[in-house]
Amino acid sequence: MLGDVVVPQGLIAHGRGECFDYLLGEETPEEAQPAYRAAAALLKLSKRPVIAVNGNAAALAHEDIARFAERFGIPIEINLFHYSRERVEAIARLFRGLSVPVYTDHDVEIPTVSSRRRLVSSMGIYSADTVMLMIEDGDMPEGLRRLGKRVISIDLNPLSRTARNSDITIVDNLVRVFPILTREMMRISREEAREILAQYDNEAVLGAVLRRIRDRLSQLSRYNPE
Ligand code: ATP
Repeated sequence: MLGDVVVPQGLIAHGRGECFDYLLGEETPEEAQPAYRAAAALLKLSKRPVIAVNGNAAALAHEDIARFAERFGIPIEINLFHYSRERVEAIARLFRGLSVPVYTDHDVEIPTVSSRRRLVSSMGIYSADTVMLMIEDGDMPEGLRRLGKRVISIDLNPLSRTARNSDITIVDNLVRVFPILTREMMRISREEAREILAQYDNEAVLGAVLRRIRDRLSQLSRYNPE
């Protein structure tokens, strides 16, 4: 079934992520914590948040995404770079039966995004104030922000265009994200959420994650079993 959902190019993106996960020690970096809190804060305060799901995201985490979306009442939109109606439907089937909308009609164009992903749903991404996306290239967050939307991304590579062009970047493996984000959503009040967002600095978080990688590599390269 997942053969209909992922494409070979997606596996390459996946491999790139695995490499960064390795550099992070295959665990959630504590430096990502402020991004988790800020992402939860922004989702709490947003009027029309949407989770954009592509093939990789669906293959790796559709159950987590579905549980999260349902619990917090956040709609999902299927948005694909390598588009076919069959793929959209195969991915949408993974989200069947949810109480939140799963948008699959791509009836409007956003001019600031190239590629097939510029076709989005007028009820979903087009009218969203906040879009959460994952395992994406940098085109989409950049284009969405130029339209005035806030973007939360999940990306293991702190150097990617996506990481650099999002309002909030969670540098962690998608498979670890949603349980942590759920805990943060439960923990934060709306008042705290405003305060958290006012103080959040995405560049500082990305810098801290890069320093973690640097320090880890320094330590490992001094390792000498003799
Ligand atoms: P950009 O255009 O943003 O510079 P890119 O050209 O690398 O990035 P893609 O190949 O589409 O764009 O990358 C997908 C991104 O998803 C990569 O940055 C990769 O590190 C990340 N990624 C892959 N697997 C995972 C995962 N399991 N969890 C989180 N991020 C992942």
